Amino acid sequence: MPELPERKVGIIACCGEELAEGTVARLSALKVLHESRRGKTVTICLPLFLAGGEGERAFARSHPTITVDGCELRCAAHGTEMYSGRPTAGIVISDLVAGRGLDKIEGRRQLNAAGKQAVEVAADRLAQLVDEILDPCNPSFRKEAVR
Ligand code: SF4
Repeated sequence: MPELPERKVGIIACCGEELAEGTVARLSALKVLHESRRGKTVTICLPLFLAGGEGERAFARSHPTITVDGCELRCAAHGTEMYSGRPTAGIVISDLVAGRGLDKIEGRRQLNAAGKQAVEVAADRLAQLVDEILDPCNPSFRKEAVR
């Protein structure tokens, strides 16, 4: 029987430099990519994606994607939807922080304790979403709305 290509999830983090939440978005995506779901995820460079990177856009069209945005402006989610289709799922760090009752996160270059905690919380949520998306018993997840 021919081997099916391994399915991977594309993670698209916003590149917010102005807000500590943007830093949390990037660091949590990297944690999943390099540690907790290494080999099951790939990262998609948002600036290249927006600038017209065909490889990035083609990947996002044909694979499930999760966007990670720092704030409610959801730059990564909107960019992905505009150029490749609706992301399979998405998280917004500011919502996650508020929902978990974490302290205010601060420090764009050096996150405070709440920021570091937010990275862990966001990475856990991302890993959970990756598992749900790759679960063969859960094919309907593919088309779920961003949340
Ligand atoms: S989603 Fe918010 S934090 Fe991220 S790039 Fe856009 S404005 Fe900046």
